[in-house]
Order: sequence, then C-alpha cells, then structure tokens
Amino acid sequence: MSMSSHAHRPKPLPLRSRDEYTIGIVCALKREAIAVQSAFDHFFLKENEKVETADGDENAYSFGTMGRYHVVLAHLGDMGGLEAKGVANNMRRSFRNIKLCLVVGICGIVPVIEEHETLLGDVVISTLVKQYDRGKEYPSGFKETNMLGPASIQLKRAFNSLDTPQPMEYLQELLKQHLLELNEHKHMKTYHYPGYRFDHLYDAGYVHEHSAGCTTCAANNYCKAAVEASCDQLQCFADKILSRKRITDLDQTAEAMGNTSDNARRRALDEKFNAGMLPRIYLGAVASGNKVMKNGTMRDDVAKDNEVIAFEMEGAGVWSTFPTVVIKAACDYADSHKNKRFQNYASMVAAACAKAFLEQLQMGLPGNVMLDAVGASGPAQSRHQRNEDRQPVPTRREGEVSNIFSGNFTGTNFGMGQNYTSQGDMYFGSSPGSGNHRA
Ligand SMILES: [Zn+2]
Ligand SMILES: [Zn+2]
Repeated sequence: MSMSSHAHRPKPLPLRSRDEYTIGIVCALKREAIAVQSAFDHFFLKENEKVETADGDENAYSFGTMGRYHVVLAHLGDMGGLEAKGVANNMRRSFRNIKLCLVVGICGIVPVIEEHETLLGDVVISTLVKQYDRGKEYPSGFKETNMLGPASIQLKRAFNSLDTPQPMEYLQELLKQHLLELNEHKHMKTYHYPGYRFDHLYDAGYVHEHSAGCTTCAANNYCKAAVEASCDQLQCFADKILSRKRITDLDQTAEAMGNTSDNARRRALDEKFNAGMLPRIYLGAVASGNKVMKNGTMRDDVAKDNEVIAFEMEGAGVWSTFPTVVIKAACDYADSHKNKRFQNYASMVAAACAKAFLEQLQMGLPGNVMLDAVGASGPAQSRHQRNEDRQPVPTRREGEVSNIFSGNFTGTNFGMGQNYTSQGDMYFGSSPGSGNHRA
C-alpha cells in the first residue's frame, strides 16, 4: 500500500453495489492511471472487492478510495474524444449514480495565464470545456466553438466557492502535501521531477524543424523525422527559448548557493525553490479537441479567441455523459517542440491535484450531493466531525528527502531533511485552521 497519511487507517470496506459509486475517474494513458492508482489510499485488487459491471460493458476498471471517497477509475484504450465518449457511455451503464467524473492526466498548457507565467507541471482545473475544433477551420485557427459549461448547479457553486483566495491557497497546500506523499510512492520512482533546466518554452513562431538540408522541412511539409527528433538533435536555437522569471530566479539562487553545508541557508533556499517550483493551479476553460495541438502560433490564436488555458483531448467526450471536471497537469506547451520528458511527472501532479480537489469539494459542495459518496465509512457525518477526522501529516524522519525538487540542481542537493509538518498542521488535523474559510 502507499505511504500516504491514510495508510495506518483500517482498510475501508469495498462497496457492494455498483450503484453506490458516485465518483468516477477517467484516464487516457497508462502512466496517468498508474499515478491515480498510486494516489489511492486503498486499492481494491481482490476479485471479491470489485463490483460486477453491466452486461456488455467492456471497460476496464480499478476500484479504490481517495480520502473519504470511493472512486471507480476507467481506463481508456487510447487517447482522444471518441474513445473517451465510448468509455464514458459504457461507464454510465454500469455506474448510474456517478455525479462527478474527473478526467485526470496530462495536457498542453498556455504559456501565460492571466499574466502568470506557467511552468511544466502546473495544473489546470476546468470550469468549462470548449470543443474548439468543432465546425469550420480557418487559416488563422479554429473559430467555431462548442462550449460545455459546468454540468450541474452543484459544480457551478463549488467552482464559485473555490475560485476565491483562501480556498485556492488551501487547495495548493493540499496539492503540495499529496505531491510530497506520491513522490515517495514506490511506483512513482520514474515520475519524479525531471529538472527545471529541461523546461523550455520556445518563442511561439519558432518551429521545431530541420535547420538545413531537409527539403521536406524547407517546403514546410510534415517531416516525420523532425517531429520524432528531440530539440537537442535538431539543435533548436537556445536563444529562442523564452526567459521566465520563475526559472531565472531559481538559476540565480542555485548559482549563489554553490555547495554549502550551512543548514539554515539550505533551508531558506529550499523554501525558495519550493515557492518557485511547486505546481500552480489554474481554474479556467480547457480546450478539448480531436487533434493534438502542437503549434505555438495556433495555440496562442486559439487560446486568445476562445479564452482557453490548456489543450487536451478527452474532456469533451466524457462531458457528454457525466458532470465532468478535467484536472490535467502540463507536460508541454502545445507547440512543435513538445516531447515526453515531463509526461510522467505531470501525471503524478494531476493525480495529486485530483485527490486534493476531492477533499476540497467535500467541503465546498452544499447539501448532501457528495456526502453519499462516503460509502463504507458510514453515514454522512457532520462537517465538524469530518474535519476532526482528518489525519495529521506524518512527520518525516531526519535526513529523509522531502523536497520533490531536490537533486535537480547542478552539483548541489537541496531539500534534505526539511520538515513540512509545521505548515501542514495548520490545515490538517483538528486545528481551528481546518476549513476556516467555510465558516
Ligand atoms: Zn525535415
Ligand atoms: Zn525543438
């Protein structure tokens, strides 16, 4: 089982009937599903812990719990809206009472969101899903858009309550906590942060192509060899990489740091790195299309015209069946230089954010819409009781790596032995800080 804060709790009972499931999760890629499974507090693997699905439902499911919720995870066989739609339709036949379906995984992100620079690993939570590639395609980009708003009044209210400073800060804090836990999970060893020095945002108009001697690229045609080559192999110009403050700050810090054995200094720097590198959460409209967006200019045009902050392919397909929220972390900038390096890490961040979102939602949703999802942990308890039941964050042992970004900085190893518990206690446990903003 995972090393999560809930691991010491007694294992909850599995749900006996598929009608008891109210929260679904859909993942398009195996790496996304592995991250979500790793974020399960309990994973029901035995045959007698699973529920039977409807006749003819050929989906593959995983069953588990996240926080206080039972969740059923559906695995897609492939990427894309059609596949997502088919899987969601099947899922609906088996799980008629699903009230919220999270589409969790990776996306391409817009470089600037409301004047904030984004970095790979930053997460978007969809308040709207827009099918930007429905309808006519124009030379300047896609124009006709099909907007899919929040599918239920509960979700709309939840977003309105979430989109205020303190709840968002709390969500960030939960994300950080789950990310630190997941980072130590034995199945997340290849999901660690690849290093900010690989986070390259190129000038939007600068295309990833053979620089000379390739007639295909020179003719502006699709060049498979170029698409499959890395920026290093193609020698994409470093001076076309845009400078971002979050990264230059870190570079300067790392430089000033050098190698030091001064603990106090190291802790201060740790904090600075965490502040800069921890994934940020953005709420907004997500573009869901049937094609992969991999063009910097078109990305910016579509983002501007449609006011979208990220690009992905499955949200709209699931939305047509369930009240859906897309929770996806950036693995690229939806341009031609995109590569797979950050995909695992982004999958882990998305899973951590989905878990944080579910926890936040439990407090944010009015009425009992979500409380009936408590399932095996008994009848819905009062909000007060539930908050008291929150487990404090486990204390880390001295010397344990607790900074997910440590080891990514040249020649130094920041982040050893820092203890986050003091910060975490403010939010977890039964301190007055818990859920204060709801009072
Ligand atoms: Zn070429
Ligand atoms: Zn490139």
